[in-house]
Amino acid sequence: MVLRERHPTQRQHNTLPKFPDMPVALDYSNGSRVETPSGASCGPLKIVIIGGGIGGLTAALALRQNGHDVVVLEQWDGSNETGAAIHLAPNSNGVLRRLGLYAETIGANPMLRHTEYVTDGSQIRSLDLTESNKQWQHQWLLAHRIHLHAELQRLVKSRDGPGRPVDLRYSCTVKDLNCDTATAILDNGESVEGDVIIGADGVFSAARTKVKGGHLRPFSSGKSAFRFLVKKQDALDDPLTRKFAERDGELVMFLGPDSKIVAYPCKNNELLNFVCIHPSEKTSAPADDWNTGGSKKALLDVYADFDESARALLSKSDPASLKVWQLLDMETLPTWVNNKLALLGDAAHPFLPHQGQGGGQAIEDAAALAV
Ligand SMILES: Cc1cc2nc3c(=O)[nH]c(=O)nc-3n(C[C@H](O)[C@H](O)[C@H](O)COP(=O)(O)OP(=O)(O)OC[C@H]3O[C@@H](n4cnc5c(N)ncnc54)[C@H](O)[C@@H]3O)c2cc1C
Repeated sequence: MVLRERHPTQRQHNTLPKFPDMPVALDYSNGSRVETPSGASCGPLKIVIIGGGIGGLTAALALRQNGHDVVVLEQWDGSNETGAAIHLAPNSNGVLRRLGLYAETIGANPMLRHTEYVTDGSQIRSLDLTESNKQWQHQWLLAHRIHLHAELQRLVKSRDGPGRPVDLRYSCTVKDLNCDTATAILDNGESVEGDVIIGADGVFSAARTKVKGGHLRPFSSGKSAFRFLVKKQDALDDPLTRKFAERDGELVMFLGPDSKIVAYPCKNNELLNFVCIHPSEKTSAPADDWNTGGSKKALLDVYADFDESARALLSKSDPASLKVWQLLDMETLPTWVNNKLALLGDAAHPFLPHQGQGGGQAIEDAAALAV
């Protein structure tokens, strides 16, 4: 019988504390069967993951590190990625570090201050988070989603590191699946069978339809969001907006009666990421697309009542990165599993962005599934 600590990366990085009470996992890393403490024999599983987003790839990395053989089926073709910034709060940053992903090495910067303004431009509070951040075991980081996604792809495919490289297949759209045989059926008719199947196919999940309550659909929360990036230097160069960009790691909010603007830095504090939440009736974002472009005119119209410094910031938006999304909500599913299928991330529980935890909860789910 071969037993090892659950996460080998924990031993390699002495910045991480040891968890003596953490459960041990069976080590299948040489691909052969092992004996469990109760005397049963078991081997590495073949795991089919539908969706190679943040949650699916984190699960692939964790399962690979526990010795399983993993196939990821991703519909995206691997080019022209979209996305802006994403919060890696202490919970998700801690999980990623244990898996050997150090987000600060891909440009994630710490969240250091939270400042709020109202529509007339007056500041209502500014909290220095340096002291309160010390209560967390891991830093609260702000990462560029494209960089995080790229690093996850690199790590799962890498020949280095624990376990065998993940078979990450692009341009593979799953159109159906069988929970009893753990089989995914692709739109070209090909079948991919495993021992277990994981539905990590995001908010518009097809896998969700296979669990109890799968008739539930995401619905509009009544709010939509513009998302875009601004070069921090552009904000620094304008006397009207300089104060919003002077401090590294500062998240700035402008609060209106039914709309708000949230801006925070990413990419080593070189870019400011904007999320501008407003009533959906003020724009016409579709419910099912991450790529719908937004217009700068519509953005400035929605925030017409905000003070000139906030509007000056918005006017710096890069049209190429300006997108508008509906923010979707969903009733709670009664279960996330059906026989050999388990859901994770947005497929299981879509989140509104207010706590910055959509990606974080997908990452936690992935770690929880990785036995
Ligand atoms: C293109 C894109 C850009 C995003 N940008 C941001 C952002 O800037 N900021 C932010 O906070 N959040 C963003 N999100 C959302 C955020 O990544 C998720 O809410 C969160 O990380 C939960 O992760 P997830 O893995 O559950 O879902 P997702 O990250 O949405 O991943 C789901 C994956 O499944 C794939 N997929 C879906 N259906 C199928 C199918 N039938 N067959 C095969 N593959 C399928 C999708 O292409 C996607 O890669 C974005 C999501 C996407 C897909």
